[in-house]
Parts: sequence; C-alpha cells; structure tokens
Amino acid sequence: MKHRILGAAACYLMAFATPWAAQAEPLNVVATFSIIGDFAAEVGGDRIDLKVLVGPDSDSHVYEPRPADAIALARADVVLTNGLEFEGFMERLIAASGTDAAIATLTDGIDTMEEPGGGHYHYIDGKAIFHAGAHDPHAWQSVANAKVYVTNIATAFCTADAEGCPDYEANAARYNAELDALDAEIRASVAALPEDRRTVVVAHNAFRYFERDYGVQFLSPQGVSTESEAAAADVAGLIREIRDRKAGAIFAENISDTRLLERIAAESGLEIAGTLYSDALSAPDGPAATYIAMMRHNSGAITTALSAK
Ligand SMILES: [Zn+2]
Ligand SMILES: [Zn+2]
Repeated sequence: MKHRILGAAACYLMAFATPWAAQAEPLNVVATFSIIGDFAAEVGGDRIDLKVLVGPDSDSHVYEPRPADAIALARADVVLTNGLEFEGFMERLIAASGTDAAIATLTDGIDTMEEPGGGHYHYIDGKAIFHAGAHDPHAWQSVANAKVYVTNIATAFCTADAEGCPDYEANAARYNAELDALDAEIRASVAALPEDRRTVVVAHNAFRYFERDYGVQFLSPQGVSTESEAAAADVAGLIREIRDRKAGAIFAENISDTRLLERIAAESGLEIAGTLYSDALSAPDGPAATYIAMMRHNSGAITTALSAK
C-alpha cells in the first residue's frame, strides 16, 4: 500500500519490504486508542492492518509512547485520532516518527461541547490532575457523534485506498445502522426512569455528551485531591450536591483511581454501583470489549442502579 518516500524511522523497515508487491497489501492504519480502534476495525474489515496505540483499560491522558509506536506511525498510511486535545502525546509522536501518513481527526464535523471551566480533572494515584482544553474531548459518549467518527474513518480510508472504497462505505453504512438502533435503545431505557431518578456520580467528567443526548445527569469531583487538607471542603460541596439532586448511584471507572470515590461513597451513604467505561474499552473478555457493548453496559448499569430503589 505504501509507495511514497517515507520518514527516517521507516527507511530501515522499507529496506526489508517488497516495494512492488503484486498482491494488494492491506492499508496500514494506526488508531490512537481502543474505542476508535473498534470503529476502524468495523469500517476497515480485513482490508486494513490495524494497530491501536493505547489499549483496553488504559488511559490515553497519561500514555507514554514507545519506540514501536513511532515505527508503526512511520509505516502507516492512515492515522486516526480523536482530536480536541485528547491525545496529548500525539504531536510529539507524529514529529518523532517522521510519518507522512494522512492524519484524520475524527471529531471533525461533530457538534462539540465547550469545557465550562477550560478543562476537567482526572484522578491518578490519589491526585487531581487538570486536563486543560477548550472543548470536551469525550465526544464518543454520544452515539450520534460516533456515527460522525465512522463516516470520517470511511472518508479517510477511501482517500488512501480508492479500490477499497465501496467496501468501506458499505461497512460504515451497516455499522451506522447498528449505532442508530443503539441510540434508540439507550433513549428508551433512560425514558423508563422516573424523572427525579436521573443523577449519578462519576470520578471524572467524561459523560457530558451522554448527559446532553440522553438526559442522565453526572456529578463529579472538581479538583479534589484525596491527600490534600483543602479537599475536605470540596468533598463537602459535592456531598451537598449529591443530596440536593438526589443522586442515585456512584460509579467507578475503568481508567480512574477509586480512592476518592470510596470516600465520597462513605460520606454520602451511596454505594459504588459498578464500573463505567469512559475513555477505553475493556479487555476482550470484559463487558465492554466493543463500542456497542460499552455503551450498552454503561447505560444498562446506570438505569439498573437508578431504578433499584
Ligand atoms: Zn481528560
Ligand atoms: Zn477523559
């Protein structure tokens, strides 16, 4: 697939490749993290050779790229990124790899949400880390947005591999129809909840697009470190909000530290009702091995917890 002059890191690899193979080689695709890797696999099928940089249950925010990642990028025909400052490691990695792959930003064309405070907090090793950005990057938590990602992937693949375009477009259309059904399913399950039982607590504010589309409210701690003296007042504020808004459940996340949540659970009298998958899929044998399974698991866990009492 790759016939262009490549960056320095790839020259070594090219020396061992057959430049004019008779058979069509797969399109070399790199996806930055597991969720868009799943979209890429759906659209690309067996026409692509896919490498995902940040795997299941791993946090893209704190990811440290490895030399193998730069080599994968140098070999790539297409690189798929979320954009909106989600993958902080990508600019350096693209530069270091010398890649001339097409870089597709999958949030292009979505209806983005601003970050009211100019960013959001993450909880890593008991500390609050501020992730600055003008726009909320967690756009995949809206199924309508996921369809835009899928369409953008098909466009990127068609540009890089015109011969495969009918396949990519057919795969994208089939998968987007599945996403339409998923969207309707989530709306129906939330609609069945009592109006005053639609608020939950999560560790990091990754669900604002879900909130916007489906009407479940998410509360999350803002800039609270479990180790800081000043944290007590901030936790008290959140506990008050939990009571005022009659939050019905607290959820852990597959990528977040649970220490702070355990403290909030103890102080609010709510129990941790399970794990939501926010920024990464689960391992293949887990409950969120694909995007569709992830959204189904999350909405099922939320609606089950909220309809419990
Ligand atoms: Zn973040
Ligand atoms: Zn996040």
